[in-house]
Amino acid sequence: MFTTKYAERVFSETEARTPWEPEFLQAVREVLLSIEPVVEANPVYEQYAILERIVEPDRQLKFRVAWTDDAGMVHVNRGYRFEFNSAIGPYKGGLRFHSSVNASILKFLGFEQVFKNALTGLWMGGGKGGSDFDPHGKSEGEVMRFCQAFMSELFRHIGPDTDVPAGDIGVGGREVGYLFGQYRRLANDFTGVFTGKGLDFGGSLARTEATGYGLGYYTQEVLRLLKNDSFEGKTVVVSGSGNVAIFAAEKAAQLGGKVVTMSDSGGSVYDPAGIDLDLVKDIKLRRRARISEYADARPGATYRAGERVWDVPCDIALPCATQNELDEDAAMRLIASGVTMVAEGANMPSTPAAIEAFRAHGVIFGPGKASNAGGVAVSGLEMAQDSQRLAWTFDQVDAKLKSIMVGIVNNSLATAERYGLGQDLVTGANIAGFERVAGAMIDQGVL
Ligand code: NDP
Repeated sequence: MFTTKYAERVFSETEARTPWEPEFLQAVREVLLSIEPVVEANPVYEQYAILERIVEPDRQLKFRVAWTDDAGMVHVNRGYRFEFNSAIGPYKGGLRFHSSVNASILKFLGFEQVFKNALTGLWMGGGKGGSDFDPHGKSEGEVMRFCQAFMSELFRHIGPDTDVPAGDIGVGGREVGYLFGQYRRLANDFTGVFTGKGLDFGGSLARTEATGYGLGYYTQEVLRLLKNDSFEGKTVVVSGSGNVAIFAAEKAAQLGGKVVTMSDSGGSVYDPAGIDLDLVKDIKLRRRARISEYADARPGATYRAGERVWDVPCDIALPCATQNELDEDAAMRLIASGVTMVAEGANMPSTPAAIEAFRAHGVIFGPGKASNAGGVAVSGLEMAQDSQRLAWTFDQVDAKLKSIMVGIVNNSLATAERYGLGQDLVTGANIAGFERVAGAMIDQGVL
């Protein structure tokens, strides 16, 4: 329930304008509720209509993407780019290719990205884009032709100092390569317009690992500060088996945890001896196959078709697949099994009721906009390297990533403390991100 009239009014107006955007409204509600203390303390935000402006993207692009399959049939998908807020830097945020993609999902992701990017301390605004195209089961040629068709429209709206996309679900190194190649051809410009690029054409070492590794560093620092504890000897449950999940599992294992699950949209695997990450990488990254193959190749592991991972007892849970994958029922199972910390690798994987359950039962909860900010942070470092025409070593980038994640934890806790909210990592992160963007918006006038 809202306690300030201003936040409540802006939420009602947003809801009335786009009632058909449930994911976007979920994200807006969560942020507006948690920034109420700062809104109440600073009437200037209402005078400058900061909330009305921050929930409305600067620009919304929607376009047709027509492409031809291997059999000569033409298909049409929708392409989108939501340029949400550029008060503190060029629009920055990934592209998602998945059949579920729509304006609501991309708007929620773009909105969250604004605060996440602010938390990194780097100069990056927020944006998000993508398409309802699904790369699963498509040939190399089909994926390439789709990416080229998508970029044939998007290229005129982006640039290294304007809008810098990256990957997300369904957009990995292969897709980024095709998208960047088409941009370079059309713009006749080799520039740092994309992050997550291949290492031979302006990519950064450690970008592939960054979101998952950053999640590990964030979790480790929170455990250290709040519980004088670590990953050492802990059982860890991870969902998903994509980019974020694989490198979150790798870092959790390096820090002493035992990861026992992974999943995809078909089901999950449980390996009580600890997940063999080389095998997962071979299945998911090299062969683009299904996680079910893991159990065929690994004695002692079981594949559970259609089952999620949340019933497996654990100390730490890292949801790394997609939004709203961890509901109240799943949260109660985790709580019953004794989970002490949940940190989000995916964007908004926990439903509001799940977060409430964690809060009510004293489970430490790291919100995605803080805990998974390592990916975009290293994207920011990739932009810096591209501007310098220099490449840093893996260890240099990894050290900066770690220091940014530790900084996010400290900033979230200090901000929560400043508003008398104890050790609330969610509210601390939302307020810290909001204050930076709102301050820049006021300084730059009415836009
Ligand atoms: P990938 O495409 O590499 O992997 C996604 C994983 O989640 C796959 O295992 C996929 O299974 C599973 N998945 C996707 N959709 C669903 C669904 N509807 N139901 C169940 N499982 C699903 O994506 P990423 O790892 O890059 O992204 C995962 C999450 O992390 C997303 O929320 C993304 O926004 C977020 N994120 C990503 C960042 C990055 O740097 N890549 C940065 C910050 C956040 P399947 O193969 O069956 O589809």
